[in-house]
Amino acid sequence: MTDFFGEINPPQRLLMGPGPVNAHPRVLRAMSADLLGQFDPEMTAYMNETMALYRQLFRTQNRWTFLIDGTARAAIEAALVSLIDAGRTHVLIVRSGRFGLLLTEICERLGADYEVVDAPWGEVVPMDAIRAKALEFRPDVIACVHGDTSTTMAQPLDGLGDLCREIGAFSYVDATATLGGMPIETDGWGVDIVTAGLQKCLGGPSGSAPMTISDRAAEFIFSRRHTEKGIRAADAEDGHRPRIGSNYFDLAMIMDYWSEKRLNHHTEATTMLYGARECARVALQEGLEARFERHAKAGAAMTAGLRAMGLSVYGDDRYRMTNVTGVYIPKGLDGERVRQRMREDFEIEIGTAFGPLQGQIWRIGAMGYNAMKSKVLTTLAALEACLVAEGVAVNLGAAVPAAREVWG
Ligand SMILES: *Cc1c(COP(=O)(O)O)cnc(C)c1O
Repeated sequence: MTDFFGEINPPQRLLMGPGPVNAHPRVLRAMSADLLGQFDPEMTAYMNETMALYRQLFRTQNRWTFLIDGTARAAIEAALVSLIDAGRTHVLIVRSGRFGLLLTEICERLGADYEVVDAPWGEVVPMDAIRAKALEFRPDVIACVHGDTSTTMAQPLDGLGDLCREIGAFSYVDATATLGGMPIETDGWGVDIVTAGLQKCLGGPSGSAPMTISDRAAEFIFSRRHTEKGIRAADAEDGHRPRIGSNYFDLAMIMDYWSEKRLNHHTEATTMLYGARECARVALQEGLEARFERHAKAGAAMTAGLRAMGLSVYGDDRYRMTNVTGVYIPKGLDGERVRQRMREDFEIEIGTAFGPLQGQIWRIGAMGYNAMKSKVLTTLAALEACLVAEGVAVNLGAAVPAAREVWG
């Protein structure tokens, strides 16, 4: 017997977790446009426009600013596999949460010689500590996460570029959770590779990963270009470095594909490119400063509302991301039951937590299209109702007015 199941018809959930978030309607509309062949002049023009749009979002002049077809971690993996030569590359990982842990895991799989400079969850790593460890370990690459949604902390990156130039290292930054919501100063920080995704502050679906690469990092990556001479390009007489240990994530091939040469590699994910392009257009039309302000206000309102309710907000206030807020689950309460009530009674999703924070906090996001007053107030009102239903003593009626005040 054949079962055709139903047509896709999801409930209209309000996604207020740490990502994914609801996509902007303009992005969904762009993604329903007709397909094009990847070497069609209309398509390559869209590709070039997408590069120009993302240069503005990443605040960089980098020529090599483009998309990886895949979720955010595809770009993370592409960056690392293209920089790391197994057994030879020393990587210093700046780690204070789950996504720092992901960098460690990828480095381990790629056979990098790595060391870690850690901060406990809920804190960030001071630049002095990064510097001290870097001077001792002399890495070829320093890899870090900007906004780690697992802890809701934003790692300050001022000075990272200077440090890397001083010791002759490349810097890599995972800005998945913050691009389009908090300032990402690629050229200002002087960092070499920055990667992102659409499903956080850019207000799109996951599945396309914008990235930018400095000229000096691109030059290094091109020196690992796959040659016809075979697998062990290092042994080739022309002094090539060993080729990159992945085909799909070979950034030398991918840059050749996005260049005027348009050398064939994968089949560009047309629909995702339409979506990524529209995410950037929406963000730039709003204006980056206005957008950062909107996220900051939504985050401040969420925090004010949660505190007014009588809940405790997680982490060091000085470094909290503006777009995701961690809040302690009241003692003795089953956090999953409250999440289930939020979903079943209000069609609202809030986030759970991982690792040491599992069962300890909820993570509530207000990102991209969802960083707006009505959605923050709705979430707070619903959470209050769910807590009351679970018998938690909250300051009744305090959250929404406290949050509303942030907008004046
Ligand atoms: C959400 C997030 C990712 C997610 O990667 P996907 O592959 O898109 O799931 C990566 N890094 C950080 C810092 C994130 O917050």
